[in-house]
Amino acid sequence: MSETSFDVAVIGGGAVGTSTLFHLADEYDARGVLFERGQLGEGSTGKAAGGVRNTYTTPVNIEIGNRAIEYFQNFADNVGEDLAFEQTGYMYLYHSREAEIEWRERAQHLHAFDVTTEMHSPEEAARAFPSLDATEIRGAMYAPDCGHVDPHSLTQAFGRAAVDRGAMIHTGTAVTDVVVEDGAVAAVETQAGTYEVDAVLNAAGPWAARVGAMAGVDVPIELLIRRIMVTSTIDQTTGPLVIDPERECYFKVESSGSMLVCDTGQDIHDVGDPDGATDGQVGYDYYLRTTEKVQRLVPALADLEVRNGWSGLQSHTDDGNAIVGPADVDGFYLACGFSGHGVQQAPVVGGAMADLLVAGETDRFDVGKLSLDRFAGGDPVESEGMA
Ligand SMILES: Cc1cc2nc3c(=O)[nH]c(=O)nc-3n(C[C@H](O)[C@H](O)[C@H](O)COP(=O)(O)OP(=O)(O)OC[C@H]3O[C@@H](n4cnc5c(N)ncnc54)[C@H](O)[C@@H]3O)c2cc1C
Repeated sequence: MSETSFDVAVIGGGAVGTSTLFHLADEYDARGVLFERGQLGEGSTGKAAGGVRNTYTTPVNIEIGNRAIEYFQNFADNVGEDLAFEQTGYMYLYHSREAEIEWRERAQHLHAFDVTTEMHSPEEAARAFPSLDATEIRGAMYAPDCGHVDPHSLTQAFGRAAVDRGAMIHTGTAVTDVVVEDGAVAAVETQAGTYEVDAVLNAAGPWAARVGAMAGVDVPIELLIRRIMVTSTIDQTTGPLVIDPERECYFKVESSGSMLVCDTGQDIHDVGDPDGATDGQVGYDYYLRTTEKVQRLVPALADLEVRNGWSGLQSHTDDGNAIVGPADVDGFYLACGFSGHGVQQAPVVGGAMADLLVAGETDRFDVGKLSLDRFAGGDPVESEGMA
């Protein structure tokens, strides 16, 4: 077989694309090639906080979350590469009696899927995250199995392991067209020439609609810009990732002692063209408003300096869930629209995509729930919010 003929072309070198390439090579010995127009991880993946959780409302996401946690716990065995998975938990804050009832119901719902949760009093929450002002909250739901990984390390690990198993990665190589003949994928055209392929995976993140159009497939995603700031060090070295859904923010303490803070209430919606949508900067106004909001929960934040900040694109579908599976064009597959879940779902989705691309089916999770068809009046999925 020549170096311009492959079983599968993966378009996009983020967490999802590299994971799929790895699983194709590792589990199926399939001939896979990945095209990344820039460097691995330079899309949404490189901007992510790396949070990993199983505390969703939608069963298919809980299922993926449980499997992902197990995968990250055994990453070295699964991939042959080391990856730190800091299992420091997630802690959801609430402020009212009504919200407490909802979180207690949510905990019951999660227990039915074997997700461990504990309801914390304000004092217990402040013991878990000592910089928290306990007087600001009514309580919290704590999920000890959740945690975080480094998105860049994850992507590099999958990329290296895929190449070790014979896959090819072309960085700095944009796919410019997908050639469809008689309703089936035949080739991809790239900046480095034409490659004959049996199947194509569109894992192009915020650019997935553009890549879909190359094959005549409409990909219904909207883009938003999310921003993160990182502070000087706080007098606390560990703790769970804390989410306040009502006040629309989350934060965690990095191992360096810095605080990573995200104000989702300041997301910028309805972003059109992904190119040039964000210059990666955050803006002084964002720092001020975020600090003002979050210092009510963490008073020490008022005395910290902002040391770093960045912005990145997220791709959202109407119901907040990813699109995973085949499109109407034979051999053209989608794994996109992951909103704030793509890094954590990448190991499990990558495995499922490899199954679908080679074997045509998967039992890793109920993949039909994430099909493109659901937007054409098929089977809509319950909406999945930030929490
Ligand atoms: C601020 C922020 C915080 C986040 N926090 C989390 C979190 O805590 N946990 C979590 O799981 N997720 C989080 N996310 C979401 C996560 O980043 C995404 O869901 C995930 O990275 C999607 O990965 P991907 O591989 O699908 O896409 P991407 O990482 O965007 O990869 C797509 C790649 O395709 C390439 N590409 C595009 N067009 C072409 C072409 N024509 N040819 C070749 N290559 C092309 C791009 O250059 C890009 O590298 C966060 C996102 C942001 C912005």
